[in-house]
Parts: sequence; structure tokens; C-alpha cells
Amino acid sequence: MPRTALPNLALIATGGTIAGAAASATDVVGYTAGTLGADTLLAAVPQLRELANIRAEQLFNLDSKDMGPGHWLALAQRVQALAQDDGIDGIVITHGTDTLEETAAFLALTVVTTKPVVLTAAMRPATALSADGPMNLYEAVSVAAHGESVGRGVLVSFAGEIHAALGLCKSHIQRLAAFVNDTTGPIGRSHPVRYFAPVPSGKAARFAIPPEAAPLPRVDILYVGAGTSPDLLDIVTSAGARGIVLTLAGNGSMPATWEDAVRRTTAAGIPVIRASRAGAGGVGPKAQDSDWGTHAAGGLPASQARVALMLALTSPNSTTLDRLFGSY
Ligand code: ASP
Repeated sequence: MPRTALPNLALIATGGTIAGAAASATDVVGYTAGTLGADTLLAAVPQLRELANIRAEQLFNLDSKDMGPGHWLALAQRVQALAQDDGIDGIVITHGTDTLEETAAFLALTVVTTKPVVLTAAMRPATALSADGPMNLYEAVSVAAHGESVGRGVLVSFAGEIHAALGLCKSHIQRLAAFVNDTTGPIGRSHPVRYFAPVPSGKAARFAIPPEAAPLPRVDILYVGAGTSPDLLDIVTSAGARGIVLTLAGNGSMPATWEDAVRRTTAAGIPVIRASRAGAGGVGPKAQDSDWGTHAAGGLPASQARVALMLALTSPNSTTLDRLFGSY
């Protein structure tokens, strides 16, 4: 049910196209992401005042292609602190679309709260004709302000749809509805807010937010095209990779030429996850996984399987990798 009093929300702005600016209103490509500040984003949507009392802060102002583990850590710590603040009922995060799926996965796997945490973004810069950011922000705030969003974990509100964070991936380069969660489908719509599916969370592994002082272990993603040499495994392990996600064809199908190198890698204590380059559907376990020492990524895209493996490597006793990846 909608709340009766206006909730108090925190808005954390991190940059992206939603805060992007171009010289011309018709330019949706040659713009600079992460230009406008949080207050400007809020001022563009005065209707937000009818939905919530919003306290805005600027954590970064970046194109999300330039984000990485240090930003995920800082954001998770800030979200966790705000979630523990009795004066805050929910949190909205503005972000770039390009690596939103990684940040959303990191938050979903680490932040502990029943308060709504809702990410949003935009495909067109704020200066564009028909910019999508203001409506996406309005909808994300509507979702965070809605009583039925409580207890659903980290959500992404984008182009009128509400998605679970895990399983989400940016699947189109230009389309305004750029995100798909093929594992769950959209779990609701944002305008008006309606949920039609629960977030599958029961078995999801959770990790403590790692201390900022300890860098997350290096995990590399290798894209395996037909005929690609398995030498890539030796190259990344020699460079210091502690885990590897393979973006393989179909159901995470391992080329025969890779089997020996994969066995050698996993025997050396470097986990190898089989993800898929197909873009939709879940990678299932194979009988050969125990021989190769590999794990199927399940419904996580390679980008999110990497984040999950980085976290798993920080706390190897908290869960087995099969349980982790088998949950999604
Ligand atoms: N490069 C931009 C970013 O991820 C793209 C966007 O936000 O749509 O920050």
C-alpha cells in the first residue's frame, strides 16, 4: 500500500548520462556523462516534492565506464550507513547505464537492509530533447517511496520497469528500455508502482562489505570466440588473476582445446566460472564441471558473475561457489 506520510529518502548521485550534458539538444552521443550535480537533477523534477522529502548527496560524478571495485566499496558503505539511519526510509542512486549491473550486483550481495535501495539511470543526456532521466528519476523515487518496495532488496527502476538487481544486464546500446533481467523478467512496473513477482532472494549468498583497505581480488573475464586460444588463461593468471569468468558460447560450452588449460588453472586454486555470451537464459551445471573444476554461472551475466566471484574470494568460507552461482 502507498504510505500515508511522505517518506524521507536519500539520493546518492554518482554521475552517468542521467547527469550528462551536450552542446546541442539533438546530440545523444557526443556528450559528457557525469557533468550535472545532484541538486540540478532534483531541480529538474519539482514533482518529486509530492513523493518524498529528499536529501541529496554527490558521491562521485563519473561516466560509469570508469567505475570499479573502489567505487562499489565506497557506495556500499555509504548505502549501508544511510540504511542504518532512522531518519531515512529508502535510498535512490543515480548511475551510468554502462556498468550499472556490476554496481547493482555488488550492492545486492553486500548491503543488509529491508529499506528500498533503488538504482536508476538514463540513456539520453539531461540536455537532450525527450531526455529520459527526469522520468526515470521520478519513477525510481516512486518505487523507493512505495511501501511494497520494503524488503525487496536492491532494485533497478528503468524505463517504467522494476528489475531485481541480480541477473540484470544492459542489453541494448541505444534503446531507452536498455535493461533486461532474463532470469526473473521485470518484477514490477514503476508507473504506477505495481509488483507482480517476488524478488528471488531466499538462497542468495550475502557477503560482508570488504574493508576499503583491502583491494578486491582480481577476477578477469575472457570472451571465448570460436577457435580462441586457451593461452589467454595463462596470460591472465600470470598477470595475477585470482579467478576467471569465461564468456563461452551457448550453455557455457567449453571448447575441447580449453579443457586441459582449465583443469590446470582450477587445480592451481584459481576458480573458473562458465558464463555465456548468448545474452539470455541461464548457464546450467554440466557433468564435466567436476572434472574441469568449473562452476556454472546460472542466471548471472559474466559481468555480475565476476563481481560475485570477487566477493566470494574475499570470504571463501561463507559459501561454496556452487551454492553461490546455483542460487541465481
Ligand atoms: N557512459 C554512460 C555511463 O555509463 C552511459 C549511460 O549512462 O547511459 O555513465
